[in-house]
Amino acid sequence: MKKNIVLNHAWLGLGGNLGNVLEAFLSARQSIADQPYCTLVQSSKLYHTPAIGPEGQPDYLNAVLLIRTQLSPFDLLQVLQIIENQHGRIRQEHWGPRTLDLDILAYADMQIETDTLILPHKQLHLRQFVLRPLCDVSPNWQHPLLKRNASKLLQCLLDKGETVLAEGFIW
Ligand code: AMP
Repeated sequence: MKKNIVLNHAWLGLGGNLGNVLEAFLSARQSIADQPYCTLVQSSKLYHTPAIGPEGQPDYLNAVLLIRTQLSPFDLLQVLQIIENQHGRIRQEHWGPRTLDLDILAYADMQIETDTLILPHKQLHLRQFVLRPLCDVSPNWQHPLLKRNASKLLQCLLDKGETVLAEGFIW
């Protein structure tokens, strides 16, 4: 019998501000690309962003990856958590420094709210460090709940007076 293989787009957020973050990002991106049921489609630029949360933290690096995957969002989350752990994820406090944070920002146009997974990611539309790299890869991506695209969501933040992040760099 012929089986249909469903490939969905998913947008992953990468963040980190402890240790050699660039090395962690490069290695995590490679791990994601090497997953049996994932294909890396595009990487955003990499942005230096000021940390939120406790004062005195080093700046973050942030990026977004667009992938195509056969994994369900829950299986994908598990894979990302394994990769975080393999890269020595350290998290001492909420919003505190961390080596590598991998989030699912969005998965196709799915809307999910469970104890372990919320899609689109709850903070997606509130953070320039997410929207800026998201706009690199998918400016027309439409938030399924807010019915606005990534460019418009970013513009809303900037209209509220947020300082524009410095230009990102290719990694
Ligand atoms: P974070 O600090 O963003 O890595 O949050 C980690 C926790 O958030 C995990 O326990 C996840 O189960 C939960 N979570 C809820 N929604 C998401 C999502 N879209 N992507 C990643 N983690 C999520």
